[in-house]
Amino acid sequence: MEENANSNSAPSNFIREIIEEDLITNKHNQKVHTRFPPEPNGYLHIGHAKAICLNFGIARDYEGLCNLRFDDTNPVKEDIEYVDSIQEDVKWLGFDWDDRMYYASDYFQKLYDFAVQLINEGKAYVDSSSSEEIKNQKGTPTEAGVNSLYRNRSIKENLELFIGMKEGRYEEGTHTLRAKIDMASTNMHLRDPLIYRIKKATHHNTGDKWCIYPMYDYAHPLSDWIEGITHSLCTLEFEIHRPLYDWFLNALHLENLPRQIEFARLNLNYTIMSKRKLLELVQEKYVSGWDDPRMPTISGLRRRGYTPESIRNFAEKIGVAKRDATTDVALLEYSVREDLNKNAPRVMGVLRPLKVIITNYPDSNVEELEAINNPEDPSMGKRLIPFSREIYIEQEDFQEIPHKKFFRLYPGNEVRLKYAYIIKCNEFIKNESGEIIELRCTYDPESKSGSEGSIRKVKGTIHWVSLEESIKAEVRLYDRLFTIEDPTAFEEKDFKEFLNPHSLEILNNCILERSLANAQQGDKFQFERQGYFCVDSLSKNDLLVFNRTVPLKDSWVKIEMKK
Ligand code: ATP
Ligand code: MG
Repeated sequence: MEENANSNSAPSNFIREIIEEDLITNKHNQKVHTRFPPEPNGYLHIGHAKAICLNFGIARDYEGLCNLRFDDTNPVKEDIEYVDSIQEDVKWLGFDWDDRMYYASDYFQKLYDFAVQLINEGKAYVDSSSSEEIKNQKGTPTEAGVNSLYRNRSIKENLELFIGMKEGRYEEGTHTLRAKIDMASTNMHLRDPLIYRIKKATHHNTGDKWCIYPMYDYAHPLSDWIEGITHSLCTLEFEIHRPLYDWFLNALHLENLPRQIEFARLNLNYTIMSKRKLLELVQEKYVSGWDDPRMPTISGLRRRGYTPESIRNFAEKIGVAKRDATTDVALLEYSVREDLNKNAPRVMGVLRPLKVIITNYPDSNVEELEAINNPEDPSMGKRLIPFSREIYIEQEDFQEIPHKKFFRLYPGNEVRLKYAYIIKCNEFIKNESGEIIELRCTYDPESKSGSEGSIRKVKGTIHWVSLEESIKAEVRLYDRLFTIEDPTAFEEKDFKEFLNPHSLEILNNCILERSLANAQQGDKFQFERQGYFCVDSLSKNDLLVFNRTVPLKDSWVKIEMKK
């Protein structure tokens, strides 16, 4: 189900301050118009979610508009699968572009016409140098570049050549169109940057209509202008491109100009965010796909059990800054816990079952006990769970020889079964290989939860599931995909060397309470004492599959404290 992202006014940041100033000075005629411009060459990730929340959130809060624009100027890497997934993900996050979904490729004719205008004004030329030569003439940050031999071609010759490029008369790599700016500029991006290159590739949107394609730095400011964008928000690496962004707009004598504003991208520890690297993981099958629940993609997080609200809240918490930093992935996990704690019903499920026979409980008896669906929200009500002679508890809730601070079951000790009775362990049974396979316990009939006798205190309370009407399920536990905070930190090492070999653990024999029998794909629950779980998108009726979204507590905090 889609929901609307109608959060109340977000905390201020430097971008909102700029917009408020522009509203006061009436710089853009009281308009606020942003855009989210993904390149359809991969699935969106949590970093994109930050940009989406920022752009759409600003439009919402200032009664402006936000466009979705596919920045599809490179025909080689783009794919319709990505175009579809991007729309699905933005909608799922709770945002809406109404009828304003555009493609930069919709503007190819206009961009071409602008290029002709630049040539006619002596501001662009066709260069017939090889890419190697162009590279060699570029200079270095401390050394001026060298003018191309072709820089002073006549306007007439430039026009003829450019038309020839467009009509497919030349091979790839033989000619390019370049802006005539300044080969000695201290900003390398102003040293006669490329505007067009020849590419004889089929484009997902324009097919074979074009064999010249505009460069990002050229297409972007003009696409913004064509759409009437007022504030063009992008990540910090584009700061140094800003003079070029402005140069194109001014060279073409345009008015009502968009303003580019840069903000820090989201970096998360234990996470990679480059689409190229994520694609590598998919193609080389380190993960099951773009929506593998371990992926930082929006589709992966959705399948893992993240809610749109938790991601929006996360985006709000991290804020918008002008300096790059790394955010702790624990903050993302905190955001989903916070949301699911309020909204996910509690159930009982045993992940690694240990059989318990309650020897003094009548053989054929089944009792229905009352359980609370969510202590955070009484309106979620109560349910009945069956209790009987044979139940299952978590293997780790029993220790044959208890260590000092272990207050759960061990021989001779008592523990409370949540919503049920106090039981005492009298005996344990091992198989031939010495594993404990069964406990024999007695229950105290006076100790039923909620009854008068229940006031008797024992130190531990554990969860359990009765064999009666129980359900078998598969549960997938996920851990961080990488073992170190920054898998790309070492130049001489491949980031894949740091993949966590234990990032996925599949448990096949989990036993869940009967209320889960009709759980549907995407449904979310708190398994008491375990964490938050979500029914997987590949789950079937005859075998429920759950993904653990997050454990109840952050186990990494402890591990890192020890280090
Ligand atoms: P990647 O580097 O992951 O491949 P990209 O920048 O090439 O990402 P685009 O499709 O061009 O991907 O990104 C669309 C928009 O999302 C851009 O405005 C970009 O600045 C923004 N964006 C991308 N990554 C992040 C991030 N980690 N944090 C915030 N915004 C991001
Ligand atoms: Mg990009």
